[in-house]
Amino acid sequence: EKWVYTFGGGRAEGSAGDRNLLGGKGANLAEMCNLGLPVPPGLTIVTSACNHYYDNGRRLPDDLKDQVRAALRQMEAITGRLFGDMAKPLLLSVRSGARASMPGMMDTVLNLGLNDRTVEALGHDAGDARFAWDSYRRFIQMYGDVVMGLDHEVFEEILEDEKGRLGHEQDTELSAVEWQHVIARYKETIREELGEEFPQDPEVQLWGAIGAVFASWMNARAVTYRTLHSIPAVWGTAVNVQAMVFGNLGNSSATGVAFTRNPSTGENKLYGEFLVNAQGEDVVAGIRTPQNITEEARIASGSDRPSLEKLMPEAFAEFRGICDRLERHYRDMQDLEFTIERGKLWMLQTRSGKRTAKAALKIAVDMATEGLISEGEAVARIDPASLDQLLHPTIDPRARRDVIGSGLPASPGAATGAIVFTSEDAVQAQEEGRKVILVRIETSPEDIHGMHAAEGILTTRGGMTSHAAVVARGMGTPCVSGAGTLRVDLRNELLIAHGVTLKKGDVITIDGSSGQVLKGEIPMLQPELSGDFGRIMEWADRTRRMKVRTNAETPADARAARSFGAEGIGLCRTEHMFFEGSRINVMREMILAEDEAGRRASLAKLLPMQRSDFAELFEIMHGLPVTIRLLDPPLHEFLPKSDEEIAEVAAALAIEEAALRRRVDTLHEFNPMLGHRGCRLAISYPEIAEMQARAIFEAAAEAAKTTGAAVEPEIMVPLVGLKAELDYVKARIEAVAKAVIAETGVAINYLVGTMIELPRAALRAHVIAESAEFFSFGTNDLTQTTFGISRDDASAFLSTYIQKGIIEQDPFVQLDFDGVGELIRIAAERGRRTRNDLKLGICGEHGGDPASIHFCEEAGLDYVSCSPFRVPIARLAAAQAAF
Ligand code: PEP
Ligand code: MG
Repeated sequence: EKWVYTFGGGRAEGSAGDRNLLGGKGANLAEMCNLGLPVPPGLTIVTSACNHYYDNGRRLPDDLKDQVRAALRQMEAITGRLFGDMAKPLLLSVRSGARASMPGMMDTVLNLGLNDRTVEALGHDAGDARFAWDSYRRFIQMYGDVVMGLDHEVFEEILEDEKGRLGHEQDTELSAVEWQHVIARYKETIREELGEEFPQDPEVQLWGAIGAVFASWMNARAVTYRTLHSIPAVWGTAVNVQAMVFGNLGNSSATGVAFTRNPSTGENKLYGEFLVNAQGEDVVAGIRTPQNITEEARIASGSDRPSLEKLMPEAFAEFRGICDRLERHYRDMQDLEFTIERGKLWMLQTRSGKRTAKAALKIAVDMATEGLISEGEAVARIDPASLDQLLHPTIDPRARRDVIGSGLPASPGAATGAIVFTSEDAVQAQEEGRKVILVRIETSPEDIHGMHAAEGILTTRGGMTSHAAVVARGMGTPCVSGAGTLRVDLRNELLIAHGVTLKKGDVITIDGSSGQVLKGEIPMLQPELSGDFGRIMEWADRTRRMKVRTNAETPADARAARSFGAEGIGLCRTEHMFFEGSRINVMREMILAEDEAGRRASLAKLLPMQRSDFAELFEIMHGLPVTIRLLDPPLHEFLPKSDEEIAEVAAALAIEEAALRRRVDTLHEFNPMLGHRGCRLAISYPEIAEMQARAIFEAAAEAAKTTGAAVEPEIMVPLVGLKAELDYVKARIEAVAKAVIAETGVAINYLVGTMIELPRAALRAHVIAESAEFFSFGTNDLTQTTFGISRDDASAFLSTYIQKGIIEQDPFVQLDFDGVGELIRIAAERGRRTRNDLKLGICGEHGGDPASIHFCEEAGLDYVSCSPFRVPIARLAAAQAAF
């Protein structure tokens, strides 16, 4: 079996396509070599050798040694040096290199092959003893740490001690003799601490380092990194052994890292840093402050230390040429490592560079404009979730973070304000022009006004589909939900964190993109919807098949969604409209009424309010489809709970407190989410549905006149499980439609459809589709009812499930493709069998989740609907799904 691939001297056995076998680093070294770029020769031990190592009780393959030896001979021939030689010793670097980049997984070993004798030879050969001893001490430090397992701080302490004794500030000030003294102390410490000698035999050193790379694949750091980034353990790591080139060979030598474009702004300008007379890890470790590569960057940074462009113009010119070439070759921004040895440039690494969301947009648009990639590729290269960063203020990455707790990143963006614990306080603060964060155990519909008034929302309970999370996302207000390590003491108005207690009025910052809760005010970066953003969206819109609508009920949300490109409303949750201002009391009056006549009297007061709400939505949407859902939540949600609230409401409605309390008690349900809600309300109290239908039709007639655009309302019945339920409600809607058309003389086209939120509805879709003209998958409830997991209580144990590997994803965030997804596929297929033009959409929170949107494309849905701030994400994800 072939375990070793060689590269060097303008030829390589592998190429960039062999990433799985050679790892990212090895494959790109081979590719650069094939391109004829100056790459020090080397060999790559393939990733399958790593698997062999673990499958065989941590033993390397038998024939590996011979293959490595043969490859070493080849490297010796190319470099004219010999491994372990006493005249011209070949030194090696040994590095790991997995298929996916895993930064910091395993440290590198440089200068391998040095010992008490080869160090002398190296000094002679280079004519620089100081350089040789400096390299040797680096080798002992790295090998002692990475291979022998002695903490690197042990070495640093010795070095600091010696520098202090000698009165040196910088490592570069130590002479050859002084380094020899440091090395003697290093070796002595290894002997004392580990009871063994530092190995002198280069062969032993090499196999020690190779073994350490393979062993590092299973170290705790690497295992954690893989879990966090979903990298399978079976991928294994490759090992790259390469001839050393020296950036620490005096002042004509240097080492550096660079990006072909600016990774934080995306600007098409070479960007990088280097150090003279140094080895690679000095740049990364930040021991010395690096210098700018280009003169332009040096001037911009105000540095008075020379750029590489000035200092080594020839090497710089060659490097710039290689950067251009590699970028064109890979058709992406590259992240490079290089070394200059006595004026000669060597390339040590290239890979696609990590970048900010803003840079990603700019680079993709620029490259498409330059003709390097197609518009479709540009669209495909943007991570939809990263757009969040661009639509909301974000915490300045340079800012200090004083984290006091964390919860779920429920609604993106960061916000700062003084703590308030009640919605009343939030509203009052807004009136006085103060910025506040509303902190609650959880929120309820009664908090809507407070949530609107607050800059951000923090709850200590509840998941990603909790009331706080859903409403905050809808409003585009940053929210952290379910921050379980924090405790709210409402009575004393305290927020108790691990170690700190904050009072009402104390300032906190929440980061709804990461879930962090921070003390004090933190500097922010404001969103910038630059031209690049618009271009990518335009290209995405040309590619996608599915429409993107929004979940919105307030005019502000609807307008925001339109500005983000929403193509209609996919879900208007009418119950939210009953919480505005004084309406809540009319609503309560209706709920508390003794009989139908009483209810109708209150509904008559609600009718004009609903009508004007709908008319405004129709006007904003100007002919685009608007789906309005009939009242859904259990009625007790509208009623007061605490004694205090009951007293207040009783006074406002002029009824007796005791009577109100009795009524509240009667409406109490043990399991309200499976109780008297959804279409069940419309069946118990058809007059409510009739009022809503009337408001919708009258508004449609009105809006048709004012906008001149045809308004085609889509009326949606929630929580249907039986066709008979839908039929009962639909008959009421149709009767009202007939009446309004007759009264207004305006012909109104409308659709009546249903949400699919119950497994029974999905399974009986072919029957329900006889009456339903569209289906909208309410995947929040469908997930809840399919799993039998409460969407409001799940976050506590779902995080345990994820930790223990029972599930990979919160099914309320990313659609459970296998289970809930199967029901969606069944319903779509059966529904369309009955009615082939059945309109299909999704309006659960999953409608804004990129992976779930891919599923919707495959399932053949016509549109996704999501909260306004997710509309651009959904547009992009839908395009990628169709690409
Ligand atoms: C759903 O259940 O997915 C849905 C959109 O309705 P709601 O979240 O209002 O229950
Ligand atoms: Mg629902």
